[in-house]
Amino acid sequence: MTELLQLTILIPLYNEEESLPELHDWIVRVMTEHHYTYEILFIDDGSTDESWSIIERLSSVNAHVRGVRFNRNYGKTAALQVGFQAARGQVVITMDADLQDSPDEIPELYRMIVEDKYDLVSGWKQKRYDPITKTLPTKLFNAVSRWISGVQLHDFNCGLKSYRQKVVKSIAPTLYGDMHRNLPIVANWNGFSRIGEKVVQHRARKYGSTKFGLERFVNGFLDVLVIAFVHRFSKRPMHFFGTFGTLSFLVGSLLAIWLIVEKLINISQGVKFRNATDNPLFYFGLVAIILGVQLFLAGFLGEMLVRQSLGKSADSQIAERVGFIDRIAV
Ligand code: UDP
Ligand code: MG
Repeated sequence: MTELLQLTILIPLYNEEESLPELHDWIVRVMTEHHYTYEILFIDDGSTDESWSIIERLSSVNAHVRGVRFNRNYGKTAALQVGFQAARGQVVITMDADLQDSPDEIPELYRMIVEDKYDLVSGWKQKRYDPITKTLPTKLFNAVSRWISGVQLHDFNCGLKSYRQKVVKSIAPTLYGDMHRNLPIVANWNGFSRIGEKVVQHRARKYGSTKFGLERFVNGFLDVLVIAFVHRFSKRPMHFFGTFGTLSFLVGSLLAIWLIVEKLINISQGVKFRNATDNPLFYFGLVAIILGVQLFLAGFLGEMLVRQSLGKSADSQIAERVGFIDRIAV
């Protein structure tokens, strides 16, 4: 029988040996002060330093400490995924291991889920101790995320967040690799729309240095684009392929008309007759028309398949939803 815990403190980490003992002691102080039932779940994402032996030592002195160790570095998203699956707390709080997130924020993040009934509360690092090369792309990323998802958060990627347990269980299967790391958007997409925000302190990194570079932003943007694409077009393939197909067809047709007009003008002015194929525009036009028709048909085919499968599965989907609601009500 699994124990019912109030809190899981989930900490993904990669080479954070210096911070771990201090972080552990601080969390324990907060837990003891508030009399929470809790577990601290460390996910060691393939550290090459002493992090894992420190986790083993901590768990031997504190029975609330659990750990998972990856055989190599899989990335923070993979670490969160495994943590979400293993978490036993009614509320799951994720935090970075580098002491940039303060455990003193935990009680309020917990309260907002339990009392204010939020599904997810995201930390907002209003004041950041980062260089402008990081804050500027972050601002842009957050603006794009808001615009695409409609989720009104200032800071989507803050490592400090709290989740209702059913939210982490629902989003865990949709995380993979470095993609889908925009967790508030995924949660919202899965129907958990009560998403709150809490201003949290951002402390300077005390030990070591950041594990992420520019590629995080590239991945982050790709993620948001994939989400937008799948979300907006997966049930409406015609809107995507159809529009491009039609545009391509129009461009090709305009070129064809222009070539005919040009030829007529030439003939009327007595210019020597030229083959249409002598003009490179002819090939552009031809390709654009063929491409346009192909894309349009692809969209049409997609739309037919989607409608067919939506129609067939509508009943079973509704049945599944009802079952799901039943399960969480228990
Ligand atoms: N992290 C991880 N796997 C990685 C990179 C980072 O688990 O491949 C952890 C890291 O140890 C830290 C958290 O993710 O606990 C946030 O990383 P970091 O502090 O380097 O990011 P920043 O604060 O610079 O955004
Ligand atoms: Mg950090």
